[in-house]
Amino acid sequence: MEKRLFTELGLSAEALKAVEKMGFEEASPIQTAVIPTILTGRDVVGQSSTGSGKTAAFALPAIDKVDVHSKGVQVLILCPTRELAVQVAEEVAKLAFFKRGVRELPIYGGQSYERQFRGLDAGAQIVIGTPGRLMDHMERGSLKLDKLKLVILDEADRMLDMGFREDIEKILSGVPATRQLLFFSATMPRAIQDLIKRFSRDPAWIKVESTAQNAPQVDQVYFEVDRRSKIEALTRLIDVHDFRFGIIFCSTKIMCDELAENLAARGYAVDRLHGDITQMQRNRVMEKFRRRGFEFLVATDVAARGLDVDDLEVVFNYDLPNDAEDYTHRIGRTGRAGKSGRAFTFVSGRELWVLQNFIRYAQLKIRRENIPSLDQVEEARENVFFEKLRDTLNAAKFRKQDRMIDRLLEQGYPSTDICSALIHLLQGGPAGGGESAAPEKPKVAAAKSAASAAPAERKSSEAPAWVGKKAGSAREPQAAPAPRVRAETPDFETGETRDRYESATRTGREKGFTTLFFNVGRKNLVTPADIVGKIAGVTRLPANIVGAIDIHQRHTLVDVVEDQAQFVVEKLTGIRVKGESLTPSVATGKEKE
Ligand code: ADP
Ligand code: MG
Repeated sequence: MEKRLFTELGLSAEALKAVEKMGFEEASPIQTAVIPTILTGRDVVGQSSTGSGKTAAFALPAIDKVDVHSKGVQVLILCPTRELAVQVAEEVAKLAFFKRGVRELPIYGGQSYERQFRGLDAGAQIVIGTPGRLMDHMERGSLKLDKLKLVILDEADRMLDMGFREDIEKILSGVPATRQLLFFSATMPRAIQDLIKRFSRDPAWIKVESTAQNAPQVDQVYFEVDRRSKIEALTRLIDVHDFRFGIIFCSTKIMCDELAENLAARGYAVDRLHGDITQMQRNRVMEKFRRRGFEFLVATDVAARGLDVDDLEVVFNYDLPNDAEDYTHRIGRTGRAGKSGRAFTFVSGRELWVLQNFIRYAQLKIRRENIPSLDQVEEARENVFFEKLRDTLNAAKFRKQDRMIDRLLEQGYPSTDICSALIHLLQGGPAGGGESAAPEKPKVAAAKSAASAAPAERKSSEAPAWVGKKAGSAREPQAAPAPRVRAETPDFETGETRDRYESATRTGREKGFTTLFFNVGRKNLVTPADIVGKIAGVTRLPANIVGAIDIHQRHTLVDVVEDQAQFVVEKLTGIRVKGESLTPSVATGKEKE
């Protein structure tokens, strides 16, 4: 769906000025599609996903239709909740900023009638409210609709879900026959279509396919985590996936500060952004983040709003966002430009229920996974190092050290021992000390105050620390060991994996998929989640390239999207899963137990 400049849509100069003031550069697809039609006076049914800009799509033409010389309600906007009514009223106020004489008024249950009477008496032309309270005012005669030109149902699907059907029908039956009627909704269930048929006259149906929502390129996963274990879960996920560029969303300033400090103390390069940070400091942090001067930005929703970074590897919802819209905004910062992104969400206790509501309302596709175990973290670090080593060997971009190696070989050291010793040194292991030597203490004290420090080293507190992700990188020539997660943390491994792969049963080869043979099976205790996680993690392809997974005693058959099969085989060769080194191949169809 195309986008256009706001100037091409037929809006007034005042509206254009407001749009510019709000910083909107171009109209979103739904705005492009509906604004000109609404301005012609035709009824419109607009369908597009959450976060696609529906509010401005109806509010801009609605404001332009208001006759500022006439008092009394000309536009009625119905919203499902008071929060949304307030939000929409705020957006209307901003968009009407340059249009003198336009007054908007939110009306919802729980607020004093007195105040609402006063607002109505003062001649508000745009009333935004919840159906129940609007009905009330209609019945009391305080809401007069004789001047009404335009009725808008925002989030119609949600209003019906919430049981407002009767109120809506009464309101729509009580408005002048000459009014224009607009329906906006993310989904179009039967009940809404019935309403539209009954009350709309020859509406233009305008549907804009979603891009942000359900974006297949954003792999969305949630984890049930005990509140106290969140930080542990976070660092494990970062380590297992080897993330280096992401935002971690928290709900409060205090949480931001605490988490940023805690992560810095664990050796991650982080900075933070929230409402208490001065504008100058904010600009500095954002600028630095854009340059990738540190790895993770810990932020609140509000603080992150002005941040125009959208190529993140991952977005963590460390705390759950307030609503599905915030969720979509947050995760929309990853998975852009054809790259795959990840969105990981933590829920504790009854937050699971809240998340399930988001999933329902915004039709999100989020699957559940378990937090990786310590073994998986270890294995992932090993794999990262393995790949780096293999890439270096393949690229052959290193200086030959034959003379030194020959000397060691001549003295009778086996080549495998020589390599192991080198890796040991690279990990920061003590020279001459051997495996049992006490590992270095982490520099917690130094890092403590460094919530905004430059890329910090991830220090180890336990052996064997696998070579950290920074090892050998240009930024940090000194190899730093990765953090070793502590063992006293609670057990995440309980609870079943209920993600979609678990239940995948094998129905023969699927079209467009190639079946791969993996040399691990039940005897290695692999789960479908291990396989998918490993493939997605190592290849960086989205998890949905994996189809059915069939685990046998000694091997596993994995369906992978045809054109990625060879790539998967290459990338996963030599990668360790549950202690076993993989030798994947294309299955021959003759695999036996
Ligand atoms: P929806 O109702 O479709 O879920 P909203 O109207 O709430 O979406 O808009 C989502 C966000 O996008 C809001 O913060 C809004 O200010 C912003 N927005 C709307 N239109 C544009 C635009 N053309 N350019 C940039 N941001 C926009
Ligand atoms: Mg909306």
